[in-house]
Amino acid sequence: HAKSSGRNTYRFFESSMNDNVYEQLRLLQDFRIALENDQLSLVYQPIYDSRGRGLASAEALLRWTHPDHGRVAPDSFIPMAERTGLIVPIGEWVLDQACSQLRCWQDAGWKDARVAVNLSAMQFSHSGLVEMLQTILDRYRIKPESLTLEITETTAMQNAETSIVILHKLRRLGVRIAIDDFGTGYSSLLYLKRLPVSELKIDRGFVHDLTLQKEDVAIVEAVVTLANKLGLSVVAEGVETTEQRDLLVDLGCDYLQGYLLGRPVHAETLLGLVTEGTRAEHLAQL
Ligand code: C2E
Ligand code: MG
Ligand code: MG
Ligand code: MG
Repeated sequence: HAKSSGRNTYRFFESSMNDNVYEQLRLLQDFRIALENDQLSLVYQPIYDSRGRGLASAEALLRWTHPDHGRVAPDSFIPMAERTGLIVPIGEWVLDQACSQLRCWQDAGWKDARVAVNLSAMQFSHSGLVEMLQTILDRYRIKPESLTLEITETTAMQNAETSIVILHKLRRLGVRIAIDDFGTGYSSLLYLKRLPVSELKIDRGFVHDLTLQKEDVAIVEAVVTLANKLGLSVVAEGVETTEQRDLLVDLGCDYLQGYLLGRPVHAETLLGLVTEGTRAEHLAQL
């Protein structure tokens, strides 16, 4: 009995594993053709000035609508795209789309529109990055300072000396750099001092329990102090409640982003938020 049940267990395990790998491969196969088949799109999440100056910027977020499975979460397809190198052409498409959108917004009257685009580790260290960015900025006549590139703390610190070289090239280009998910990676303050970046984005993990955990308040406070000393702006992500919002404003965060203030939306909807200003109730306190 023990033997046969053991075998069954093993078989079950094996077949579910195969399913899993098979599913993964199929998803990958599907993802390869997602771009040509118009299944990829961008949504934009508003980033608000915490001192009442309204909408400051928008973060472009990639969406994949699979013909059978519907929406697939970026947290599952981005790592896959990164592992296979597909992120390089996809990432270029994202930058092109976001900058084209930025041009539209500025032409539509949102003169100081800014957009933030996520860069994966492989894109960041890809040799064609600076040239590709220059081409896209020229194509849409984008002022470089209106584009922010978000790289995670982990990406920035993976090979810190190389990162510093790449970041200096990007700075010469004039684009802004934000360190995303700040506080979740391993950061050496010595390197942070040498990274030519303009912004720290506090990970939403610290915001989530902010009103319950003194430790998280201490961490946000420390990041704000550090950022101020280094001349960087601070963005808090994942703001979901009015209590979190109020505390983050008090703690001195410069910009706020999260479901309370606005979910990721289509480009046209985002433009509507500009004229709406801070009239909405949840924004009136800013
Ligand atoms: P991220 O860059 O840290 O983006 C913020 C994520 O938090 C987004 O998830 C956003 O929808 C979500 N979010 C925003 N406000 C809230 C909130 O109040 N509560 C909660 N629980 N979540 C909030 P999303 O769109 O699923 O993206 C996940 C990650 O996938 C991103 O994290 C980014 O690392 C990556 N990603 C998305 N688009 C791109 C892209 O175009 N290129 C690259 N390389 N990575 C991307
Ligand atoms: Mg981001
Ligand atoms: Mg983030
Ligand atoms: Mg994140």
